Amino acid sequence: MRILNYIDGKLQEPVNKKFLDNYQPATGEVYGEIPDSRKEDIDLAVEAAKRAYPIWSSMSPGDRSKHLMNLSHAIEKNLEELAQAESKDNGKPLKLAQTVDIPRARDNFSFFATAILHEENAMHDMGKHAFNYTLRKPLGVVGCISPWNLPLYLFSWKIAPALAAGNCVVAKPSEVTPATAFLLSKLCIEVGFPAGVLNIVHGLGHHAGQAIVEHPDTKAISFTGGTETGKKIAETAAGQFKKTSLELGGKNANIIFEDCDFETAVKTAVKSSFANQGQICLCGSRILIHESIYEKFREAFVEQVKKLRVGPPDAAETQVGALVSLAHLQKVQQYIEVAKREGGNILCGGTEVQLNQPYARGYYLSPTVIDGLAPSCATNQEEIFGPVVTLMPFKNEEEALAIANGTKYGLSATIWTQNLQRAHRVAALLEVGIVWINCWLVRDLRTPFGGSKASGMGREGGRYALEFFTEPKNICVWLNQ
Ligand code: NDP
Repeated sequence: MRILNYIDGKLQEPVNKKFLDNYQPATGEVYGEIPDSRKEDIDLAVEAAKRAYPIWSSMSPGDRSKHLMNLSHAIEKNLEELAQAESKDNGKPLKLAQTVDIPRARDNFSFFATAILHEENAMHDMGKHAFNYTLRKPLGVVGCISPWNLPLYLFSWKIAPALAAGNCVVAKPSEVTPATAFLLSKLCIEVGFPAGVLNIVHGLGHHAGQAIVEHPDTKAISFTGGTETGKKIAETAAGQFKKTSLELGGKNANIIFEDCDFETAVKTAVKSSFANQGQICLCGSRILIHESIYEKFREAFVEQVKKLRVGPPDAAETQVGALVSLAHLQKVQQYIEVAKREGGNILCGGTEVQLNQPYARGYYLSPTVIDGLAPSCATNQEEIFGPVVTLMPFKNEEEALAIANGTKYGLSATIWTQNLQRAHRVAALLEVGIVWINCWLVRDLRTPFGGSKASGMGREGGRYALEFFTEPKNICVWLNQ
């Protein structure tokens, strides 16, 4: 697959004609190439977006909505091809791409396409003298930068509200997983999406990504990725007073109280630990268990984890596919070594899984469960972002909260209890942006999505995203002479 940039409605090579290798995680082989875009490509994309902006931003919400719905329908029509491409590019089980990633990308477009049809603006009446009305205007050209774990899902989660609100977009998917963003650019051409409104530029973060953030004409940056990258982006953007929305890393606690629905808690904990090879920012990577059921939970959990089938992403029985890249596999393996040095017990997993050809060089790691570690150790403090979870006992609610809140991150948490008062009490005291009670990853796209502390700044979803991508302008009208 030879990937090209999508600028001003056309597919094009990068100006320097240089390409990077694109690897297939399932086999460890190069299967395509992607543009190694630089500042000059971003300049072209921003110019195209600026030219398209006057028409796109002044279009009625109804007309913008129709364009976005065309994209949603095109994704639905090509769901199978997109799912195959996502699974091949990322290593995730095909079934996951078919049932979660691509349907969600379709829904991101339809959700924001219809949301703008129901927008209302505020009016503040000052009696007989005057009144105010508040317009929400798009910002102009905005940058959207997304990670590799849920490629089209997170890419569209940013660009759909940005476009719906009337902005033109320069977007960069992760260079590790560019395939579905490229297919989306082909769908834009197929459905006649207006040229220049959405521009997709491929390349490395420190070249193409950095150029988007630095460009004086990008008015806002919506970024999802690692905390260190987020920090760098915030520093660059701050100097230009540029708006930023940052969705960053997590080290989420999954708190299991003694009165939980045990079977459901164990089953869901397996999913929240290892879905997408543990590469979801919302995965519960620290499982905190009340001491009275610690051993019972550990036994049941490890038994189920051992049954998870690691295999080629396109095999129907596969539950855990390949990690996204060799570099990431090595990073996760290093963390397992850190855990051993810190005195952790590897209860299961911890080793590479060797598959037969053509998958022998793929990046497979067996789901890993570790206990015996203090909450303060590196394994329990740093984001691993792979198929690795730790188990820790707690004595009471206070201790559970202290452990859960005792990291620099604050993205999400899960609580398992049948005690209604405790559930609400603990939820209110958790220093995170998202809490699930007796469930995990149940998503309503209208709700605020994002984290606190080192997990990010700002919220995505529903009106929160539409507010980020617009600026309020108050207009005061004097009535009384
Ligand atoms: P990175 O931070 O490495 O990269 C994210 C994106 O930023 C990529 O497109 C990357 O390009 C780009 N980038 C890198 N450096 C720069 C720069 N200096 N300026 C502009 N852009 C840059 O994250 P990963 O792709 O490794 O994703 C994993 C991380 O994402 C994890 O920490 C995870 O927790 C987080 N995440 C957070 C979510 C949330 O909602 N809070 C959801 C999903 C993931 P390139 O790929 O070329 O380096």
